[in-house]
Amino acid sequence: MEDLKPIAIEGLDNKKPIVIAGPCSAETEEQVLSTAKQLAACGVKIYRAGIWKPRTKPGGFEGVGEEGLEWLKRVKAETGMAVATEVANKAHVEAALKAGIDVLWIGARTSANPFAMQEIADALEGHPDVNVLVKNPVNPDIELWIGALQRIYNAGVRHLGAIHRGFSTYGKHLYRNLPQWHIPIELRRRIPILQIFCDPSHIGGKRELVAPLSQQAMDMGFDGLIVESHCDPDCAWSDKSQQVTPDVLNFILNTLVIRETTQTTENLTLLRQQIDQLDNELLEVLNKRMRVSREIGQYKKEHSMPVVQAARYDDILNNRIALAVEMGMSSDFMKEVLEAIHGESVRQQIEVLNNRAR
Ligand code: PEP
Ligand code: MN
Repeated sequence: MEDLKPIAIEGLDNKKPIVIAGPCSAETEEQVLSTAKQLAACGVKIYRAGIWKPRTKPGGFEGVGEEGLEWLKRVKAETGMAVATEVANKAHVEAALKAGIDVLWIGARTSANPFAMQEIADALEGHPDVNVLVKNPVNPDIELWIGALQRIYNAGVRHLGAIHRGFSTYGKHLYRNLPQWHIPIELRRRIPILQIFCDPSHIGGKRELVAPLSQQAMDMGFDGLIVESHCDPDCAWSDKSQQVTPDVLNFILNTLVIRETTQTTENLTLLRQQIDQLDNELLEVLNKRMRVSREIGQYKKEHSMPVVQAARYDDILNNRIALAVEMGMSSDFMKEVLEAIHGESVRQQIEVLNNRAR
């Protein structure tokens, strides 16, 4: 996807962050226009509003449908902002393109479904100038996310971007959808040219998390933000606890710190050399550990012992985690590291057993 281009909107300078803002859902013509005018006055250039709403359970507000396209046309005409809405099937794409919607985004439930993605991609064929943003699928599967992007790319769309909106999980957490920042970071590593937006509203699920999440996204080098903003959030018909007024959004945007410089000083170069050196040492130590582990594998084979000895593994986990916590690392982190090392050790011991059996 080397020839991807940034989102193209007239008058948009691509200065970070590119801001897309507007209500979760278009509810009434008045709500759409009043929110739009307030956001335009804050300098927002791209207005979002969902008109087809994917709801988890039936019976909720499912969006105003095509009628909302007329309201978005008025937003364009009266404020000069570009407009964005969510599409989830062929009929949505056709209606949105006909109405001159500038940015189409694909929601997290849709991007998880290759059939739906292909249907949308087919409907986009022959419309190379439209901007498309693909949200991460609800499940933390980077291949599924990249696959969804590829389907749109293969349809000829080049103004293509991704939206990180967090990942579903079971149970109650601080975040509505876990950020799992390493996934969008890996996406950036794999497709460096792809613009990535952060959706702090759906990650946080709470108004007060919009500002810190937006700052985190900027610190990680995201290109833009898509934020839910409503003229009267407490009365919103969907996602009310995560929407902020245009005034609050303006305040959040004005207090964001954008760290853009890529120039490195000698200090940073020295610190990076230390990291490189430490990583090499880490690799050597791990390799040594694996060699010892293979020798243990051999011993276990000769003495007919099983590879995994649960009590010993438990001891290792508890004792190393306690040490790590004392050193200031988190126990979750150390548990993951030890599990990964143990997994590789077991794999290597089994390899030893199999080799000797031959
Ligand atoms: C939305 O942006 O309003 C929306 C439905 O988001 P998601 O697909 O991320 O849940
Ligand atoms: Mn929403």
